[in-house]
Amino acid sequence: MKCQNVMEEYVTRKLDEVIDSLDCCKCDQCRSDIISYALNRLSPKYVSTERGKAFVKVNTMSSQFEIDILTAIYEGVEIVKKNPRHQQKGA
Ligand SMILES: [Zn+2]
Repeated sequence: MKCQNVMEEYVTRKLDEVIDSLDCCKCDQCRSDIISYALNRLSPKYVSTERGKAFVKVNTMSSQFEIDILTAIYEGVEIVKKNPRHQQKGA
């Protein structure tokens, strides 16, 4: 059985939802840097079963949870904008 951090799924999904409204680079490198930053700020939620996943889902529907994820994503975006690690083209 494999343990999974469901926060990964939430953060990735949320970033996909909001990335078009953010003034940031959308390349794979920057995206994964933003996700890593957000995940390091948020408490991980590990589950090992589908049932556990459903349980976490019920407990994470609060708007405070959404706000926490969004705040972490926005902070990650700011960091990545200041220090992009992708290959600079022509720079
Ligand atoms: Zn980039």
